[in-house]
Amino acid sequence: MDYKDLANLIFPNSKDISYYEEKYKNRNLDEGAIVTRFAPSPTGFVHLGSLYQVVVARKVAKQTNGVFFLRVEDTDQKREIENGVTGIIESLKDFGLTPDEGMKDEINEIGNYGPYKQSLRKEIYESYAKYLLEQGKAYPCFATPEELEEMRQKQEAAKIRPGYYGVWAKYRNLSVEEAAEKIKNGDSYIIRLRSEGKEDRKIKHHDVIKGNVDFPENDQDIVIIKADGLPTYHFAHAIDDHLMQTTHVIRGDEWLSSVPLHLQLFQMLGFKAPKYAHIAPIMKEDEGGKRKLSKRKDPEAAVSYYTEIGVPKEAVIEYLLNIANSSFELWRKQNPNTSINEFELQLNKMSVSGALFDIVKILDIAKTVISKYSAEKIYEETINWAENYDKELLELLENKEYALKVFGIERGNAKPRKDIAKWSDVKENIEYMYDNKFYEKELEYDYQKIIDKDLIKKILKLYIEKYYNENDDKQMWFDKIKDLAEEVGFAREVKEWKQEPEKWPGHVGDISTVLRVALTSKSNTPDMYEIMQILGKEKVFKRLEKAMEVLNK
Ligand code: GLU
Repeated sequence: MDYKDLANLIFPNSKDISYYEEKYKNRNLDEGAIVTRFAPSPTGFVHLGSLYQVVVARKVAKQTNGVFFLRVEDTDQKREIENGVTGIIESLKDFGLTPDEGMKDEINEIGNYGPYKQSLRKEIYESYAKYLLEQGKAYPCFATPEELEEMRQKQEAAKIRPGYYGVWAKYRNLSVEEAAEKIKNGDSYIIRLRSEGKEDRKIKHHDVIKGNVDFPENDQDIVIIKADGLPTYHFAHAIDDHLMQTTHVIRGDEWLSSVPLHLQLFQMLGFKAPKYAHIAPIMKEDEGGKRKLSKRKDPEAAVSYYTEIGVPKEAVIEYLLNIANSSFELWRKQNPNTSINEFELQLNKMSVSGALFDIVKILDIAKTVISKYSAEKIYEETINWAENYDKELLELLENKEYALKVFGIERGNAKPRKDIAKWSDVKENIEYMYDNKFYEKELEYDYQKIIDKDLIKKILKLYIEKYYNENDDKQMWFDKIKDLAEEVGFAREVKEWKQEPEKWPGHVGDISTVLRVALTSKSNTPDMYEIMQILGKEKVFKRLEKAMEVLNK
């Protein structure tokens, strides 16, 4: 009996690997095209760090006319949740990051390199496990949980490296006859790699992101096929990325230490190894130190968080590009209106250590992104968001024509307003433009510099009786506020007042502020002329009168 017979006993019906090697033909791509993937476990949850990897991987694939595919890694069936694949696919779709190939929902997929779900590739893994068994590069291991526990305890007591290797690899040297005997007996087993590595030898690895890293060779006889018949992550990774012709494995740097094992697997299977690019995680400041952004502790680690608070997807993606390549910021400054697709991302310029998460930066980017939207687009995005998260806002926006006017204030010009960072800001931002909301609360007025109640009343009264005219254009409107300033003894021009401040109690700006506060109960709003135009005479008067009424109390 030889290795071949043992392999046949274990996998009697497996296809020869030549079948798969033939089936998955070379991708006909341009020289330098990057084929890469996102390979999540179907846990339903998408971490911001995963989205970051997707943005990076998809970008480099796109910019080289390559392929970005989605492979579902569901061989750890304990971690799976129902509809976990859908959750991931929906999130990618939400962010406009649909893959070129791979799973499209729980069952369907596109592409010629599938199945793209590992649990459907069992036969393929078996063929390759058989191939290794035939050459004696893998073997069945019959160690029971008790035996493994005993081994672990002995290693711990002797303070030596834990694991199944060297002299500890009890079933490594079982003869094929003995192994066959046990199998026929019905003893349970798993398949392990017969490692040829030596711990005191080094391998050199060049990581596209991390640069040169040396590791000791892998000498552990790692499990390749588990007791449930499914492969381990490591084994599946080597076979899938080989057959799917991945050129670059772009993944989280928690996998960096597995590189020696992965390179060994590629080598023992006779495959050309892909390039590896290990991405540093997104970090968070915590009590003076730094730690990984955590699914458990940080709500902002879930990509769904951004959808819930209504940050536009583009802003999140732009933020992630920002942390991916520090040159992005300058590029954006120089190309404020260019699509991010034009930005050339460089994997080898990514930071080796993790970027610090910065919500202020995300919101800042979001403000700029939203400032470039048209009123119509803002209206639509707000409605979409409000449908799921804020029914009251939805009602407020019922009158589309009016809403468009409100959103249109100081928009569509060279310096559009930048006061909305997320759709959940909108309500507070526009409420005062709606009478039912405006009068709902107890109104508070802070007139800033002018505190003399009689003067304020006088200003408001004069404005209503003498200076307001609905039909004035902006110039005329402002000239009249200047006239009003003069009439109450204030400087017509801020400039004049600045030159001789002792001459007047204040200037036209202070008068405007009185009007603005009376009109909106806010001292800071966008263009007051536009606000008055939208509200119209009747509402403007009603509000100014209300302010006077409050002053009389
Ligand atoms: N399934 C692995 C994970 O979720 C994928 C790692 C990889 O991209 O190879 O971490």
